[in-house]
Amino acid sequence: MTKNVLIAGGGIAGTATSFALARAGWQAHVFERASEFSEVGAGVQLGPNVTRILQAWGLQTALQDVAAFPTQLQARSALSGDVLATLSLGVDMQRRYGAPYVTIHRADLHQMLYGAALAAGAQVHPGAVVTALQNTAEQVEVQVSQADGNTTHTADVAVVADGVWSQLRQQLLVDGSVQPTGHLAYRTLLRQADLPVHMRSQDVTVWMGPYAHVVHYPVRGGAWLNLVALTEGQMPGVTADDLQSWNAQQTPEQAEHDLKAALRGACAPLQELMAAASSWRAWPLCGRTPMQGAHQHVQGRVALLGDAAHPMLPYLAQGAGMAIEDAAVLAQQLAVTLNVPQALQAFAAQRWQRNAQVQRGAIRNGQVFHARGLMRWGRDLGLRLAGPMLMDQPWLYGHHVN
Ligand SMILES: Cc1cc2nc3c(=O)[nH]c(=O)nc-3n(C[C@H](O)[C@H](O)[C@H](O)COP(=O)(O)OP(=O)(O)OC[C@H]3O[C@@H](n4cnc5c(N)ncnc54)[C@H](O)[C@@H]3O)c2cc1C
Repeated sequence: MTKNVLIAGGGIAGTATSFALARAGWQAHVFERASEFSEVGAGVQLGPNVTRILQAWGLQTALQDVAAFPTQLQARSALSGDVLATLSLGVDMQRRYGAPYVTIHRADLHQMLYGAALAAGAQVHPGAVVTALQNTAEQVEVQVSQADGNTTHTADVAVVADGVWSQLRQQLLVDGSVQPTGHLAYRTLLRQADLPVHMRSQDVTVWMGPYAHVVHYPVRGGAWLNLVALTEGQMPGVTADDLQSWNAQQTPEQAEHDLKAALRGACAPLQELMAAASSWRAWPLCGRTPMQGAHQHVQGRVALLGDAAHPMLPYLAQGAGMAIEDAAVLAQQLAVTLNVPQALQAFAAQRWQRNAQVQRGAIRNGQVFHARGLMRWGRDLGLRLAGPMLMDQPWLYGHHVN
């Protein structure tokens, strides 16, 4: 008999899970709070650990149609503008890890997964809020609220993929809400054709300054430049709950003003690039301490995936990547045994330490990117002497989910 999975949340994690399970023969239903399935935001980078999975899922051609394939990653000083180190991506990454390093608009990634999920038979329900989950002896019950009323559904497995602000996690694990990290991300997209030639770029570039850094890379086949500035600052008295609506209240003028202050002292080329942006969207970054055990991934027949399970700072560029790894492992484990609780425990055992390692790595990377004083001096020297070795991450990119 076909088994069924109900998924709360249709972001990257929920959509990838619906595809992975539908292609494994499961009946997958996704409930998404928003009235349509779409992604906001700008770009994401995907390392070979993630593109390897997309290839195995048969999405290589779809990826090629929309992604950009940068040939190098440059680390630069935001203050002097010096190139501190360069890591070759492109064919070198492909040769080393057997899969490419890509940069892609988040909406293109989501659309690709969404189209694949529908084609594989997944069913999606927009405007549907999952309000509660309850493990029973043999199944899991899922309460859903929609404009035309409330319904209860039963499933063999439920997946909680409702993102960083996950209410369902709080119900299940009773471990409170996410905490503000004091870091903010300002994002914008620039059409490359509108930029002077010397400002256009098909590389990934990281400009590192005290308490702040800027990253840019191409998306939409290289036609657009995704520009993100990450800053640090205390926001006294502001709680994680306030932050959920905070970005909506930021005016473009405020964002521009705050960014100018955070990047004062930056070199002229970086100032020029920042000035090319006409509007910024700000995201307060919230997080949790790295995962502490398998119980944070699975409770009975409920699995937590993506940001709901392991929200992380974006400084290793792997949040969506870990959500896709989660989805792949969940589908693999559910395919090898008919014993669902056992498969879920195996999933949790396989994933929690990997996710914790990436969460910790992202925090460490932030400290390195934003270094001041002696630490900054040491970082720059290290990058000049051994940049490619320090920037490559075999433990991360070489990871195979099977
Ligand atoms: C500045 C920045 C840069 C980043 N860069 C990268 C990068 O380069 N590479 C990378 O891999 N990752 C990156 N990330 C991380 C990545 O964006 C996230 O990890 C990923 O999008 C999380 O996906 P998700 O599906 O878990 O959560 P979300 O995308 O938040 O999706 C959750 C969904 O659940 C829905 N929902 C919420 N509650 C309910 C409910 N009760 N019922 C039904 N639906 C519900 C929401 O509407 C939403 O659609 C970055 C993040 C930021 C902020």
